Amino acid sequence: MTPVPATGYRLAEEAPWLAPARERVAKAIAAGKLPHALLLQGPPGVGKAALADWIARLALCEAPGASACGSCGSCRQFEANSHPDLARLGLVEERKQIAVDDVRELIASLTLKSLRGGRKVAIVDPADALNVNGANALLKTLEEPTPGSLLILTVARPERLPATIASRCQRLPVPLPEPAVAQAWLAAVGGAGDWSAPLALAAGAPLAALALAAADAAGLKREMAELPAILSRPDADIVGLAERCQQRGAAERLRWIENWVTERIRRGLTTPAPDHSPATPGLPAAARTRHIQGLYGVLDDVRAAQAALKGPANVPMLFERVLLRLARELEVLRAQRTRG
Ligand SMILES: [Zn+2]
Repeated sequence: MTPVPATGYRLAEEAPWLAPARERVAKAIAAGKLPHALLLQGPPGVGKAALADWIARLALCEAPGASACGSCGSCRQFEANSHPDLARLGLVEERKQIAVDDVRELIASLTLKSLRGGRKVAIVDPADALNVNGANALLKTLEEPTPGSLLILTVARPERLPATIASRCQRLPVPLPEPAVAQAWLAAVGGAGDWSAPLALAAGAPLAALALAAADAAGLKREMAELPAILSRPDADIVGLAERCQQRGAAERLRWIENWVTERIRRGLTTPAPDHSPATPGLPAAARTRHIQGLYGVLDDVRAAQAALKGPANVPMLFERVLLRLARELEVLRAQRTRG
């Protein structure tokens, strides 16, 4: 439930399963038959917020076609997130409902004269977070819409929206894509790989799968960032760590180690001796050379593990080898420092 970024429309522009909805709106605008209120209805994470953004940009565009032109004054202000005729309403922080005062403010902005001389557009995402008072306030606007205004509501649970509101909006269904379509899109947008697991976890909703994968990657990164400190402990449980690495994100973890070691080598090579860099503080030149050689050895193991991972591999054993070598290298470094 984060606020929609101004670039949300880009996701909608390239999502193949949103094409029917996009075409329907573009045709309505071209024919001068855009309704005063649209209700985007579909499961969470299917792309309703991005589509709402895309529609708003098109409805405000001064040279609209199948999509917004991208170069008129309106499109430029939209891109800069400073369009004076666009208002957005969503959930703030941990709140579960949209406050009625915020709805009133939104309605007031819709009734003001357009600053660019075009439409006035307001997005309420998600509209099922309106409370009774908020919904009532909105209802008045829906009953007597300001000419030239467009209200875009999104809803995942239509049963939570008063029927009086839904009945005054034109419904725009946003169904889930076929799994193959979703997977191809995820591979193009989120990176190559097997997206079936996050997609299944997100109940087939592509944007939800993307968000899950991003959260997962961030968690993995945080976990890996602690690895050097853990490995530096004399009682580090290498076997247990290797087991954990096997459970998820094996390739990502290896890439993380590869980057970390590469960075250590780079810093070791580029910092002139005597070295007081955070990587190898106070390490004499000869010891540093030995340390860098040792790190190259770790890198060899990482690359061998990456190659092995492409076929059937004993993943815990691969990690055990890499982690043990890295731990030994960190141990050597620590011993040298203590001696120095
Ligand atoms: Zn434009």
